Amino acid sequence: MATTENDFETALHVLDGIPQPSKVNPYLGQHPLKKAPVLCKQDYVDGILAHNRVILSKAITLIESSLPAHYEMAQEIISACMPYAGKSVRIGITGMPGAGKSTFIESFGSHITSLGHHLAVLAIDPSSELSKGSILGDKTRMESLSVNPKAFIRPSPSAGSLGGVARKTRESIILCEAAGFDTILVETVGVGQSETAVRSMVDFFLLVTIAGAGDELQGIKRGIMEMANAIVVNKADGENKRRAELTRRQLANALQLFPNHNNRWWKTPVLTMSALEGLHIAEIWKTIMNYVQIFKENHLFEENRIRQSEECLKSFIEENLSLMFYENPEVKRHFEAVRDALLQQKTSAYAAGQQLLDLYLSSVKK
Ligand code: GDP
Repeated sequence: MATTENDFETALHVLDGIPQPSKVNPYLGQHPLKKAPVLCKQDYVDGILAHNRVILSKAITLIESSLPAHYEMAQEIISACMPYAGKSVRIGITGMPGAGKSTFIESFGSHITSLGHHLAVLAIDPSSELSKGSILGDKTRMESLSVNPKAFIRPSPSAGSLGGVARKTRESIILCEAAGFDTILVETVGVGQSETAVRSMVDFFLLVTIAGAGDELQGIKRGIMEMANAIVVNKADGENKRRAELTRRQLANALQLFPNHNNRWWKTPVLTMSALEGLHIAEIWKTIMNYVQIFKENHLFEENRIRQSEECLKSFIEENLSLMFYENPEVKRHFEAVRDALLQQKTSAYAAGQQLLDLYLSSVKK
């Protein structure tokens, strides 16, 4: 049989007697790619309540979307899930980049899932909105936890103001709880305002630090230390063990000076751990459980959540009112001129403010 140039394009040409298959897949086009079904609200709610994490992920994507139709659908799903939410322990975790947060979450996650808990990890990353980069570096982190069937990891929503990102995380917590996760970790980085946002949505706030981070001496982290319900000095292993212990003592001494430290119910403990070697991880979980028990017994747990809901309502209204004010066309048109008058000391700040508010109010009354 004469060979043609085309015969050499197939690996079967040497086997005489075997019919040559077509070079084009004959089945191509017979099975068009199935389109993902469009889910309705009830599909989402049923999926979440059935602990279906694919549907949970999709619902969180709706929460994070900037499309108004998605926003509406997400709000309906959240309302339907509300009666099934609220039963978890919400833990916030903060610390400077490199302190060992993700290593800790890996260790901690495998410890508590081995105890039978279901853990969801969410994040608020203040860097991602500014630089589109991520200090929390979502992709390569928590490799073993990300394949743990009892864990669910959701990276930080990357778009929007801190207020917007905080709202999305708060709403994602509700869905995760309705999907059966009894422990929620919200991670953030110890820079900027994001700690305050995380503190306002969790029951327990953990600060991870390391020896020599300067917290104990400079007091720059004073605000965060005051917010913390426990401080843990990480990397207490090998040659670093002694330094970590020294830092632990310094921090414990520094805490004595804080007025809220001698709280009637809770003294902020300072612990050491090695996230890498898994040392004292169990102790941290016990500390959190102890806190939860004391606070529940004394009705402080519920009280804190109610206060958080009220604050959330107020800050939602404040943010939206101020957005409406600054986006108002009348305010926009006159803002520069009023500000110039203020800078030239032709008017006071109060009079300038009142003028803009009057413009706003009369434009919304129309
Ligand atoms: P994050 O930026 O706070 O999430 O910190 P990572 O978890 O990414 O850790 C930063 C670096 O510190 C990594 O190289 C870790 O391997 C290392 N690390 C984290 N925990 C420990 C620890 O307990 N001991 C030691 N020696 N190194 C640690």
